[in-house]
Amino acid sequence: MTQSAITAYRAAILDSLGDPAEVGIDNSYRYFKDGLMVIENGHITALGEASDLLETLSADITVKHYSDALIIPGFIDTHIHYPQTGMIASYGEQLLDWLENYTFPAEQKFIDPQHAAEVSDIFINELLRNGTTTALVFGTVHSTSVDAFFHCAEQHNLRMIAGKVMMDRNAPAALTDTPASSYADSKALIERWHGKGRLHYAVTPRFAPTSTPEQLSLAGKLLQEYPGLYLHTHLSENNNEIAWVKELFPEQKGYLDVYDHHQLLGERSVFAHGVHLCDDECQRLADTNSAIAFCPTSNLFLGSGLFNLPQAETYKINVGMGTDVGAGTSFSMLQTINEAYKVMQLQGHKLHPFKSFYLATLGGAKALQLEDKIGNLEPGSEADFVVLDYNSTPLMKYRMAQTQSLEERLFVMMTLGDDRAIKATYAMGKPVYRRD
Ligand SMILES: [Zn+2]
Repeated sequence: MTQSAITAYRAAILDSLGDPAEVGIDNSYRYFKDGLMVIENGHITALGEASDLLETLSADITVKHYSDALIIPGFIDTHIHYPQTGMIASYGEQLLDWLENYTFPAEQKFIDPQHAAEVSDIFINELLRNGTTTALVFGTVHSTSVDAFFHCAEQHNLRMIAGKVMMDRNAPAALTDTPASSYADSKALIERWHGKGRLHYAVTPRFAPTSTPEQLSLAGKLLQEYPGLYLHTHLSENNNEIAWVKELFPEQKGYLDVYDHHQLLGERSVFAHGVHLCDDECQRLADTNSAIAFCPTSNLFLGSGLFNLPQAETYKINVGMGTDVGAGTSFSMLQTINEAYKVMQLQGHKLHPFKSFYLATLGGAKALQLEDKIGNLEPGSEADFVVLDYNSTPLMKYRMAQTQSLEERLFVMMTLGDDRAIKATYAMGKPVYRRD
């Protein structure tokens, strides 16, 4: 281990320590106005006030100083579809028609490995431009889509989770597999990628309507066969979708029960949306330690509904933020929590900036059971972090000049900020994006 493997960053530094709903706002974060973070071989080894830590560093260690900037942990996106990068901002439909008219045609192109590689590259660069260092990602039904994505993620040494879509009915023939082929293809991808470097595999049935009970059973079987796998799917996003699930699975109590019946709930299971959940379903999600990805820009864009975060808090369900691109309208987690604030306002609730910040970082890590590795800047963690620029636009600079408190600055950042506010993004201590 050489001295050159150690670097230090000086700036204002903020990270989350817990869910404000559980520990209270004041205990939910840690802030150093003039902070220092020391990194050795990709991991954070010290964090504190610059005045305390600088004197402990040996003279040959480079200290990179970001003035008028804020270092925070890398953002975590708990639900996104990389194959939909090229169809973000498609006009006019709600969920089921939107899938048929826009999504399915776009996804058919991913049988071509070159197309998959091109989109993976664009997608990962877009995540990094927006300060997102970890995401739970949908591929398409094609194994080539997942190979291309993981290959690209591996080159940047990112902690990423992805999987091949399992879909054996109610979709175009070019996009359907069979229970047996989806099982075999998923298994081969798991063998190739799960646990390789910083990569994890997610068993990914698209949603209940596009899988037969036989396929869902095989998804459950995969989860039993390999430890540490994720389950990634959609749940109760749209009222027509929920009615359709009732028709397709009349013997099940409800939408969540379809997944439950096939052993798909658990601490590494992430259900996107959960906009229309009854109390029994919330209780069951909590009992199984399953997580919900709250996707405000998508829920508004598709007119799906307003996620009830206080209900999830009451049941102590793990919640992370998801962009859900391409139904979501931005890769930016700042813009995603901006919209989350408005979703709460429409329901008569205030979403505190420290709660939003928690959801976009440590909350996401907890939803993914990765809080021992990422999500905050605790010494020992992997050094995935973002440098936010308080002066990223003339308007933000002007507004920031009038702020009095950290809380206020954070709220202005998340309301006015987007990709332009990301000055730099680091993964395992290495720069993976620089704006300037
Ligand atoms: Zn989705």
